Amino acid sequence: MTKQTAENANEAAWHTLDADTALARLGGAANGLEPAAIDQRRAEYGPNSLPQQQGRGRLQRFAAQFNNLLIQILVAAAIITALLGHYIDMSVILAVVLVNAVFGYIQEGRAEQALNAIRAMLSPRARVIRAGRRQEVAAEALVPGDIVLLEAGDRVPADVRLLQAHNVQIDESVLTGESVPAEKSTAAVEADAALGDRAGMAFSGTLVTTGQARGLVVATGANTEIGHISSLLQRVDTQTTPLLRQMGTFTRWLSLAILVVGLATFLFGWLLRDLNPNDVFMMVVGLSVAAIPEGLPAILTVTLAIGVQRMAGRQAIIRRLPAVETLGAVSTICSDKTGTLTRNEMTVSSVITGAGRYDISGSGYDPQGTFSKAEQTVEPVGEPVLIELLRGALYCNDAELHEADGVWQAVGDPMEAALVVAARKAGLEDATARHGLIPFDAAHRYMATLHKDDDDAHYVVVKGAPEQVLAMCNRQLTADGSEPLAADWQERIHELAAQGQRVLALARKPVDPPPPELAHEHVADDLILVGLLGLIDPPREEAITAVGECHSAGVRVKMITGDHAETARAIGAQIGLANSDEVLTGADIDKLDEDELAGVVERVDIFARTNPTHKLRLVTALQRDGAVVAMTGDGVNDAPALKRADIGIAMGGKGTEAAKEAAEMVLADDNFASIVAAVREGRTVYDNLKKAIGFLLPVNGGESLSLIIAILFGLTLPIAPLQILWVNMVSSVALALVLAFEPAEPDIMQRPPRASGEALLSRFLVWRIVLVSTLFSIGIYSLFGGAIAVGLDVEVARTLAVNALVAMEVWYLFSVRYLSSPSFTYEGVQGTRPVLISLALVIGLQLLFIYAPFMNALFDSRPLPLLSLAWVVAAGLVLFLVLEIEKWLLRLWFPAPE
Ligand code: ADP
Ligand code: MG
Repeated sequence: MTKQTAENANEAAWHTLDADTALARLGGAANGLEPAAIDQRRAEYGPNSLPQQQGRGRLQRFAAQFNNLLIQILVAAAIITALLGHYIDMSVILAVVLVNAVFGYIQEGRAEQALNAIRAMLSPRARVIRAGRRQEVAAEALVPGDIVLLEAGDRVPADVRLLQAHNVQIDESVLTGESVPAEKSTAAVEADAALGDRAGMAFSGTLVTTGQARGLVVATGANTEIGHISSLLQRVDTQTTPLLRQMGTFTRWLSLAILVVGLATFLFGWLLRDLNPNDVFMMVVGLSVAAIPEGLPAILTVTLAIGVQRMAGRQAIIRRLPAVETLGAVSTICSDKTGTLTRNEMTVSSVITGAGRYDISGSGYDPQGTFSKAEQTVEPVGEPVLIELLRGALYCNDAELHEADGVWQAVGDPMEAALVVAARKAGLEDATARHGLIPFDAAHRYMATLHKDDDDAHYVVVKGAPEQVLAMCNRQLTADGSEPLAADWQERIHELAAQGQRVLALARKPVDPPPPELAHEHVADDLILVGLLGLIDPPREEAITAVGECHSAGVRVKMITGDHAETARAIGAQIGLANSDEVLTGADIDKLDEDELAGVVERVDIFARTNPTHKLRLVTALQRDGAVVAMTGDGVNDAPALKRADIGIAMGGKGTEAAKEAAEMVLADDNFASIVAAVREGRTVYDNLKKAIGFLLPVNGGESLSLIIAILFGLTLPIAPLQILWVNMVSSVALALVLAFEPAEPDIMQRPPRASGEALLSRFLVWRIVLVSTLFSIGIYSLFGGAIAVGLDVEVARTLAVNALVAMEVWYLFSVRYLSSPSFTYEGVQGTRPVLISLALVIGLQLLFIYAPFMNALFDSRPLPLLSLAWVVAAGLVLFLVLEIEKWLLRLWFPAPE
């Protein structure tokens, strides 16, 4: 049994209680719940999730398969066929329609399942303190009494009574409709305060826009405010893409055209040729069936779904389906540096104080290492300024280090963890109490904390980007006080940055009396510089490879970082960016207007000391040049740029919920190489969609052409209407489905990105449809005509023609698997597992069609002498060879077809 509510009617509401009372009432502790209490509460209150919305029912999904004009035309045809007395034909048409619906149902069901599974990978996380330790858990696992940590960019995971709040503002528009973020504090308010005025509460589903807070979970799941109104919020995600829409329109027009042609043919045959209307009608049914690509919509959906699954396998999680297509057209990737191009495994390798430069040995988070100065090992305790620097770095810090089984692990920002490690190497232990905080944000580029020293005097510690911090300092720390700032700090910063190190400066000053709430104005000047810290963060090996791959694929890579220009330049060169000489800083960008910026963005690859507004301007400028831009981001302020980019990419690990929600794609491993893998998959999906279309349309075209010829010239139909139906809805679909599983062509990352406005029915595809349709008709008539000429029955001749058609499809499949490169290669001939399975399936079905008595009865087919099958295979082989020659000629004449 789960309790209905954590709050009895006679108890005061949470927002009226002060923080300590709230904590006491839930039996919570400031350092979190113990495991036993968590288990017990989970049993009592249930998971922290909203009741699942009922998905479409099975029946509804099955019925949706008939919500398709093409299928409806067939059903109408079946009904008229029955009225005309052709009951067998009617049942075959209906059976095939049914098989198609079942097939579509199963495939779409699988696609839907796959997408749902991927969505589950995106489930939100929450940072909590449990049993005195900071940890990350699934938001679903929260229970009342948990202590959660919130910061800018988070979605609040449950209803929370704030215990501590620093400059917190929360966007509560989902609940209140109020678009201006609400200021939060820990204050209790009147019982009848409106939701938007309950300053001491943070509500589930709202978005933290600035600040940092710590809060007590008071309500979870359906008991939260949002739980009460959740039915209003269920959003419907569209599951379509531009290409699918284009195809949908195309098939609707095609059906209309077929109806018109069918009617005209009917009137032509009946009135002008004076044929039996009954027979002509059946021919027209055959023609419609032949011309309509019944299986196409389902195959396109499946192809996309498989693409999404493959991308998930490469750590790229698609949040909006159209991104799968757009990825294939990406021409510029703008990437963060830290953690995406670099490993984000930081180590403090050198520090500089007024007393000189020290190098620190050791690697990773293992707090073992020694300090040396001018190649001489020194004891940190003998270096007072160094100790103060490391102490400041330890205090002005949100990270924690834990050892588990001899392995040191960090919770929090890896850079801050590296600072903790450095402090431990000097023998410093845990941090002291903190009386005030300005959290780090990418716009100010520093963080500050307030502490008390042994004499109970208050002081602030500021750490941040060196230019920023240096500008706020006027003195520097010495062993016994302070002295005026030395003149050469800029050179020292430059010296570290040019080695690719990330540089931090640390400063402090006394503040007495301390302000009640620490703000930027309290640290803006008169700081005393303690020193610089240089951190190394090696580039990711796989990112270097991936950048190279991008260049050969015609995709430009740009690095946009908040880091120092020199650090960015050094890393840019190590990563292998095309232009690692020129660096544009945020300040430079501010000086350019939109036109000037558009003029340089294409050339420059490194943008340093940028803030999120610069990202937005950069995307816009690149898009003005016609680029299709993929842009990474993690912070709450990156959301506008992510939305603006063609593909917004959020970091799954360090990214905020706000960034993920704005993004088209989330990187599970924050790795640049995964972006490139996704681009590769995106290109493959687009290729495969094109192949599926390029396969099915000419097959349908060839069938219709044969029938139209027969009707126009009053010839015997080479293939009976029901037989066409069989080929179209069984063999063609089984074969075309293979294309959804096709791996990438070998040159996929050697061609330039496709033009973003490229028409689906490119000139190449239209040419292919015409050519292959013609070849199919020739093949069908050759076998049918040949059989008649040697005196075989019409039924036998038709059976031969049907099999020739299927054989040509099989060979054409092998041809179309490589749109423009040769198919007659070792890989090409070998096929893939799906190819072989469908090949076996189709051959089996055709043998049934030829030899099984019930199939003979249904489809009017006849057993064929085995030897005649050689002709069937030969028809396909000829088609294949002609197309290989065509590809060779096209490659010769137009080095890059299309
Ligand atoms: P990046 O694009 O490399 O991720 P950020 O915007 O995160 O850059 O950081 C920009 C600069 O701000 C860094 O070079 C560093 O000097 C400073 N900085 C980053 N994180 C912190 C932090 N937690 N505390 C203080 N300063 C920081
Ligand atoms: Mg960063």
